[in-house]
Amino acid sequence: MLSRFATIGSRRHAAAVRPQAVMLSAVPLASDDEAPFCSSTEAQPHDTYPRLFSPLTLPCGLELRNRLLMGSMHTGLEEHKGLKEMAAFYAERARGGAGLIVTGGVAPNRKGWVLPLAGKMSTPAEAAEHKIVTAAVHDNGGKIALQILHAGRYAYHPFAVAPSKKKAPINVVTPRALSEKDVRRTVSDFARTAELARSCGYDGVEIMGSEGYLINEFCAPRTNARSDSYGGPFENRSLLALEVLRAVRQAAGPDFAIVFRLSMLELVERGMTFDEVVDLAALLDEAGVDVLNTGVGWHEARVPTIATCVPRAAFAFATTNVRDALLAKHGRAPLMCATNRINAAQTCEDVLERSADLVSMARPFLADSYIMEKAWAGRENETNTCIACNQACLDHAFKMMPVSCLVNPRAGHETSLELVRTLTPLDVAVVGAGPAGLSAATALGERGHRVTLFEQSSKLGGQFLLAAAVPGKEEFWETLRYFTTMLDLHKVNVRLNTTADAATVKSFDRVVVSTGVRPRRIEGLESSSTVKVHSYAEVLSGSSKVGPRVAVVGAGGIGFDMSEFLTHGGADFYTEWGVDTAPTGSGLVEPSAAKPARTVYLLQRKKTPVGAGLGKTTGWIHRKALRQPGVEFLNGVSYKGVGDDGFRIAVDGKDRVLDVTGVVVCAGQTSVDSLFRELRRDEAFPVFAIGGAEHAGELDAKRAIDQGVRLAAQIEHAAPGAVFGMDIGWQAGALEWLQRNVMKK
Ligand code: SF4
Repeated sequence: MLSRFATIGSRRHAAAVRPQAVMLSAVPLASDDEAPFCSSTEAQPHDTYPRLFSPLTLPCGLELRNRLLMGSMHTGLEEHKGLKEMAAFYAERARGGAGLIVTGGVAPNRKGWVLPLAGKMSTPAEAAEHKIVTAAVHDNGGKIALQILHAGRYAYHPFAVAPSKKKAPINVVTPRALSEKDVRRTVSDFARTAELARSCGYDGVEIMGSEGYLINEFCAPRTNARSDSYGGPFENRSLLALEVLRAVRQAAGPDFAIVFRLSMLELVERGMTFDEVVDLAALLDEAGVDVLNTGVGWHEARVPTIATCVPRAAFAFATTNVRDALLAKHGRAPLMCATNRINAAQTCEDVLERSADLVSMARPFLADSYIMEKAWAGRENETNTCIACNQACLDHAFKMMPVSCLVNPRAGHETSLELVRTLTPLDVAVVGAGPAGLSAATALGERGHRVTLFEQSSKLGGQFLLAAAVPGKEEFWETLRYFTTMLDLHKVNVRLNTTADAATVKSFDRVVVSTGVRPRRIEGLESSSTVKVHSYAEVLSGSSKVGPRVAVVGAGGIGFDMSEFLTHGGADFYTEWGVDTAPTGSGLVEPSAAKPARTVYLLQRKKTPVGAGLGKTTGWIHRKALRQPGVEFLNGVSYKGVGDDGFRIAVDGKDRVLDVTGVVVCAGQTSVDSLFRELRRDEAFPVFAIGGAEHAGELDAKRAIDQGVRLAAQIEHAAPGAVFGMDIGWQAGALEWLQRNVMKK
C-alpha cells in the first residue's frame, strides 16, 4: 500500500529549487525573515511546470510571480471571526505560492449583500479594516484583489434587487426591480468600492459578472425583461457590465488590476448566447480589462460544475472556445483565466498549454495552502488534494457556518487550530487506520510525537476505501495517497494486519481509538434462496456480487452512493449531464444517460422526500443522477422480509413485493468501541475515541478527520475520554432556527 502512491511526486525541479526550509501543511518551519518561495520572477523556467511558474505582467503593470489565480471563495471569516483571522488565512495562501489571490465577494452596497450583514465595502472605515489583510498578503510575497459582488436576485434578504421582479428558483426572496436611477447609483457604488479597495492596499479588484449574480442577470434575457436603456437588445443588456468596468477603471486608475469574471458558459435556458458572450468579452477588452476570468453556469443551473463527479478541468473548453472566437472574430483576446475542478499542478499546466493564460484554483487552497510550493519543489505527493466534496466549504457557507475543509480542518482556523511542534514527545498508539485514525496519526506525527498506527486489515483507509469505489468519487484515492505519504514523512510506525487489544496499548502514554464502525443489520432481514441480503461494505469492497435487480435499504448518503455504484452505466460526464462543448449555444443539450447497469429501488422508512437530508450543494446532483437511470424512490416503507418471490415491503401501509435478486442494507452503522470502553474502565487512563468509534451517526469523514486533528493539537493536556468537535458558530444555529420557524411558514 505504501508504495502504491510513491510515484507521483518524484519529479524534482533541480535547477530552480532554492534551498529552503520545508513547510508542512500546518507547521511553517521557515524563519520569518526568509523570502517566501518563488517570490522573484526568475527568468529560468521550471522543469516540470514551465507555464504555471512563468511570471506574468498584467496590462496595468501588476507583476505576478506565476499563472495561478486563487479564485474567490466565501470563507465567512469576516462575519464569524473578523478580518484578523481573514488576514491569517490569506497570508498562509500567499506564503504557499498563489500568484494573485481574489477575496470572497464583498458587496458594493447593502442591497448587494448575499446575506444580511455580509461583507461590504462602501465607507472609508470599512476599507481601513482591510489594511491588515492586504499587508499580510504583501508581507508574504503575494498579490491580492478584492472581489466586488452584487448578489442581485440571489440575495437572501428582504432588500434584494434585480433587473426585473423575477424570483430565482433557488431563493425564497422576490427581488425588487431596479430603476434606471438605481442602476446608475449601483455603477457608482462599484466604482467607490474599487477606489476604497485601492486605498487600503488591494492590488486590484475582480468584478463578479457571472454565476447568475446581478451583472449576469442584466446580460441575460432569462432575468432581464426591462424595456429601458438596460433591457431589450444585447447592447442594452450588456450596458451595466460595461458601465461598471469603465467606472471602476476611472475611479481606480490605469495602474490597478481589473479582473472581470465573465459567464462564458451559462448552462441555463435563455442565458446569453455564445456570440453575445464573445461580443461582451471583446467590449470588456476594449474597455480596459486586465484579465477575463471564466464563470461557468448560474447557481440555479441543473448541471454540476464543481462537484466531485465533474472530471478535472472539464470546463476549460469554455475558455478555449471564447478565446478562439475572439481571435477569429476580433483578431485579439485579453488575458484569460480558466476555472472549475482544477486541483493539481499538472492539470494547471495542461490547461495553460491549450486553453488559457492563467488558471484559477480556489478550494484546493483550502485543502492545502502550500499546493503551489509543493509543486514548485517537486513534492506533489505531499499535497492534500481537494476532493470536491463541498462538505466543509460550500455546504458550510450556505448554512452560515465558518468555512473549512473536510481534508484539512485547519482551513479557516489558522490561528486557533495550530499543530505546534511538541517539546515533550509522547508515545501514542492510534488504533484503526480509517479517516479518523489517519488524520490523528499524521497530525500527531507532524507535531513530533512518536506514533504507532495499528490496523487490523491489510490496507489503510477504512471507510475511505469504500467511498473511493463509488463512481465519481475517485478523488478519495488522493486523500489516501496524501495520508500515506504523510505517515511516511512523519515516521509513523504503521502496523498493518495487527489487532491491538488493551494489553497491546496499555504501555503507551496516550491511546487514540479510531476503530470505526460496522454496518448495522436489520433484525429479521435474512437472505432467501433467491434473494441475497448484503451489507454496503460487502458490496463496495467487492466481496459480495449483486444481481440485476436490487433494493437499497436506507436513503442516506451511503444509500445514494450505493445506488450510483449499482446503476452506473459508464456514460461520460458531458453526455450524462447534457453539456454541449461546441462553441454554439448556452452549453446545454439533451442529456442521454447510458443504459443503467441494474434496476434499483431506493427505500427509506421516513416519510420525508428521499434525499432530503443530503448536502445542501450536492443533494440535487445525487437525486438527479439517480432519476436519470430510473431508480425508483420509495419513502414511508416498512420492511416485512425477504421471500423467494422477492422483497416484501409495505409502502404507506400497502403491501408490495419488489421483484429483486438482492437487497443491500445501508441503514446506518454501530460504533466499534469495545477497546475504548475497556480502557475507560480506568477513568484516569488517557484514552480517546474519535470518528465512528466515538459517534456512529451517518458516516462522517468530515467529523472524523476534524476530531483527529483537534485531538492531536492538544493531546498532552486533554482530559482522558474528552471529545473534540468544531464550533459551528451562533449564526448557523440562528439560520437553522429561522428556516424551521419562519421561512417554511
Ligand atoms: Fe475541497 Fe471538500 Fe475541502 Fe471543500 S471541503 S475544499 S470541496 S476537499
